[in-house]
Amino acid sequence: MKIGDITKKYIEKSEKHGANNYHPLDIVIKKAEGVWVYDVEGRKFLDCLASYSAVNQGHVHPEILAPAIEQMKILTLTSRAFHNDRMGDFLEKVCTITKKEKVLPMNTGAEAVETAIKMARKWAYKIKGVPRDKAEIIVCENNFHGRTTTIVGFSTEEAYRDGFGPFTPNFKIIPYGDTEALKTSINANTAAFMFEPIQGEGGVIVPRDGFIRESYDICKRNNVLFIADEIQTGFGRTGRMFCCDWENVEPDVYIMGKAISGGFYPLSAVAADHSVMQVFNPGEHGSTFGGNPLASAIGIAAIDVILNYDLPRRSFELGNYFKNELIKINSPYVKEIRGKGLFVGVEIKQECGTARPFCEKLFEKGILAKETHHQVIRFAPPLIITKEEIDWALDRIREVLS
Ligand SMILES: *Cc1c(COP(=O)(O)O)cnc(C)c1O
Repeated sequence: MKIGDITKKYIEKSEKHGANNYHPLDIVIKKAEGVWVYDVEGRKFLDCLASYSAVNQGHVHPEILAPAIEQMKILTLTSRAFHNDRMGDFLEKVCTITKKEKVLPMNTGAEAVETAIKMARKWAYKIKGVPRDKAEIIVCENNFHGRTTTIVGFSTEEAYRDGFGPFTPNFKIIPYGDTEALKTSINANTAAFMFEPIQGEGGVIVPRDGFIRESYDICKRNNVLFIADEIQTGFGRTGRMFCCDWENVEPDVYIMGKAISGGFYPLSAVAADHSVMQVFNPGEHGSTFGGNPLASAIGIAAIDVILNYDLPRRSFELGNYFKNELIKINSPYVKEIRGKGLFVGVEIKQECGTARPFCEKLFEKGILAKETHHQVIRFAPPLIITKEEIDWALDRIREVLS
């Protein structure tokens, strides 16, 4: 699609002053409401990325906006040198939905992952009795847990790692979904197994049924912490509150981010029982903005929207419908359609090129979707999407995939 003059002006300015670490589609968004975004040319698009599932509640949800503005007028930041009157309610809410006893609030997903890593290591030394500096953490091939130096150090994606070493040692990498490899990788020094219940950035990779339950059981038998990175899969995205709910597994540690604030604010959290969280003492971990009253007020409201509108159920029902309709297209370009709830990956056959041109065609027709891992179109609209809006999208997806 031809780039409009106004769009060009904005993009040129960003490219002139910004680092070149992203390759966005040629759209400059200036406004959004619900599932719809509007660009600087006055065009309207259906958002099928939902900011990588950070806006499961839809853009600028009024029931998050109002308390956010109210809180902003009163108190935004105290630092953790003092208490604030909003954090407790937020922690309590996260405890309720995770059924965990303790929550540690941070800001970004990667920080929450770092928090979980620090917690698992310290737990290994203080509770499990692993000798100093010997703790190991098992992770999966094709993982995505964020962009800090420690986290990219155990990525298997060359572009994420190249040029950023040396890396933090003692991460072991096993094939995703391989419980045998998990068993044989565990030893007396293993602190934790950390994984994504569905690999989002990795291409919406759904592990075989039973993987979550079996790997949980293996970890339990071996006194290894089972850490679920639910940053992208959490808060209803997969048709359950958390993706681990699909196999009735309660991880030892939940890592949450993205939709926990409905897109209003960087907010993340780690939840665990006291038996694990107790390893942190004053001064041993922290964040200037973590647990601030504005983030807390927003987090409370964002979780309430998920609960009050039963978005996990909506995601389940509409996700099934959407996926079945996609399968019916019977596209010659498509190798596989997979996913859970409104978290759907459409894998393009290698011989048909990459997913990018398909995303560009969808864009021309008014749908925002972003390719992930070259071959996969990810469809993950806000969970408030209606059936009519899904049908609107399907009409256009049919044209592009037929
Ligand atoms: C997005 C994401 C992260 C990183 O979150 P940031 O807020 O970008 O730091 C970590 N893990 C998973 C599974 C994610 O999807």
